[in-house]
Amino acid sequence: MGIPIYLHASWFIIFFLITLSLRTQFTSQHTDWSPAQHWALGIITSIFFFASVIFHELSHSAVARHYRIPVASITLFVFGGLARISREPDNAKQEFNIAIAGPLSSVFLAGCFWLVARYFHGNDMVHAAAVWLWEINLVLAVFNLVPGFPLDGGCILRGIAWGITGNFTRATKIASTAGKIFAYMMIIFGVWQALNGNWVGGLWTAFIGWFLLSAAQESFMQVAMRNTLTDVRAADLMTHDIPTVTRDMSIEEYVHEVLRTGRRVHIVSGPVRPVGLITLHAARMVPREEWANTSIQAVMLPLDRIHSASPAEPALGVLQRMQSQDINQMPVISEGDIVGMIARDTILRMLQTRLQLGHLAEQ
Ligand SMILES: [Zn+2]
Repeated sequence: MGIPIYLHASWFIIFFLITLSLRTQFTSQHTDWSPAQHWALGIITSIFFFASVIFHELSHSAVARHYRIPVASITLFVFGGLARISREPDNAKQEFNIAIAGPLSSVFLAGCFWLVARYFHGNDMVHAAAVWLWEINLVLAVFNLVPGFPLDGGCILRGIAWGITGNFTRATKIASTAGKIFAYMMIIFGVWQALNGNWVGGLWTAFIGWFLLSAAQESFMQVAMRNTLTDVRAADLMTHDIPTVTRDMSIEEYVHEVLRTGRRVHIVSGPVRPVGLITLHAARMVPREEWANTSIQAVMLPLDRIHSASPAEPALGVLQRMQSQDINQMPVISEGDIVGMIARDTILRMLQTRLQLGHLAEQ
């Protein structure tokens, strides 16, 4: 389907733990097998389990693609699988269908493995693996149906709430609140289990609860941010006064310029048009004794390598790019000319102000 599938480093931990626990289970249930058979079947069953998880995520992805919503990637990590769907669905029905596809695919797989376990008796090992796999796929389906964000059940709940209220933000609030309640329940249950002697299982449950809690909060924040900055574009937030320096200036002179004005980013102008961007950070990479003999042109970022925004780009997109690249200032370029500068904290300030005002407006 053209969707890249990634393994996060943390996945190797869970792969090892599941393989280990399968080996232990097979060792106690099938004493007639050799240790090599216990290990081999543990590894193979574990691979089939993660193939099932990928199948589950691909089912979400297939439905999303059906609605022309691109899927960026699928990642396996310590708590399972995650399909990164590039944007929110257009309506409640799409949300519902994308979400329900996952649990349905897990129920389907559980059925397939159940059939193998029920009717295939030629080989003990195939039978043992099939029994474990049909049960785990059913568990996966049921757990994912819990009605709390970010589980599939949470998206199903949001789809239903969105359909009823017609309000995406309110539906998100409902689903993420349900997700938080479920996450707290898991944490409390996990701690209780741990205190009653089941340390490993209890801590694991509490950890999943903690992960779900932060994911529920984050998904709500993202929606709030998106709604808040929805009509703001780069041109609205950029400053038109663009500090400029000439390219033959030495770093020594440039540092003086920074000290004089307090500005840390400058456009480097060439004979006709700008040629690059210089920051105090880049200038300070040069050893102190070479400042007088090095021109800023040698350390500037050439214009074609700078991350830039266009005036019409949505502010939220600019903010996300700045955060992922860890940059604080971005020139806004229109038809090859720098028309302004946009700063990360300006966008954040706008976000904060609007969130506060939005809160006041609701009261
Ligand atoms: Zn799912």
